[in-house]
Amino acid sequence: MLDPLSALRKAPGIVRIHGHRGARGVLPENTLIGFRNTFDIGVDVVELDVLTTADDVPVITHYPRLMAASTRDAAGRWQEGPGPAIRDLTLAALQAYDVGGLRAGTDYATRFPDQAFLDNQRIPTLAELAEIVSRPPYDGVWLNIEIKSKPSRPEFTPPLPDYVSGILAVLERFRLFARVILQSFDWRILQEVAKQAPDLPRSHLSYLDRPDPPMDPNIIDGSDWMAGASRADAGGSLPDLIADMGGAVWSPHYSDIRADEVARAQARGLIVNAWTVNSPAEIQAAIDAGVDGLITDYPARAGRILLAQGLTWRG
Ligand code: MG
Repeated sequence: MLDPLSALRKAPGIVRIHGHRGARGVLPENTLIGFRNTFDIGVDVVELDVLTTADDVPVITHYPRLMAASTRDAAGRWQEGPGPAIRDLTLAALQAYDVGGLRAGTDYATRFPDQAFLDNQRIPTLAELAEIVSRPPYDGVWLNIEIKSKPSRPEFTPPLPDYVSGILAVLERFRLFARVILQSFDWRILQEVAKQAPDLPRSHLSYLDRPDPPMDPNIIDGSDWMAGASRADAGGSLPDLIADMGGAVWSPHYSDIRADEVARAQARGLIVNAWTVNSPAEIQAAIDAGVDGLITDYPARAGRILLAQGLTWRG
């Protein structure tokens, strides 16, 4: 039987590359220029983040509030401190901001020293990107769409059924169902996707709990993050739990990856995508662990690392 997800699965000589937020290492994240550039350099999967505006338009941006380090207003003034919530702005108000560059001296700019500084880049709507990838030359690319949601902060998102249906409506309008996967750390979102579009492949993001986590861990058994599920429901195995929940993809943080669990996931039919591997050592470790896909801010770098060992990412 034809595998509808074969373009995302590893194959002999092939490991897939997903450009994270386009190619955050070299171009402003989650911008149309970043996505186009990633496609233009021969990487045919991009990862992107979706939130929804006050007027219920799905837009492509990661943080629930406008981020000071990357936001200038219409007069060119930098955002000082945390900006307004995406959910509290209309699309028109949101797109008045320029997100084309990182403010010098901020931690974020220091973290991405090679990111181009551009002017007049707007937070795109999901429909704007969907339109671009629905026609040549980009009508063969894939979107790995992350739906942002945090159980403790419902004010940042619409009610989940409306949130998901708004995103699905865009994908339907541009007939993209065969070239998208939907991922979330909040597995209640994935349950909602399963209800509304059962055939759409769902990707379960995971980040294990640990002492002093720098980000929110979501693998907390019985929590809302996991939609109430527990690893004990699947003999203690996270990949088995995701397979049992009908997931198509497991997307673990790179530091949580174990080769035996990757093999177990793949034996259950799951695709395994590592996030977010950026250094050569992180990229190599994920390749060695046998993952299907590398989610990276540096897609060109990942490509060169694959080529150096006789591998590629397309075909
Ligand atoms: Mg993301």
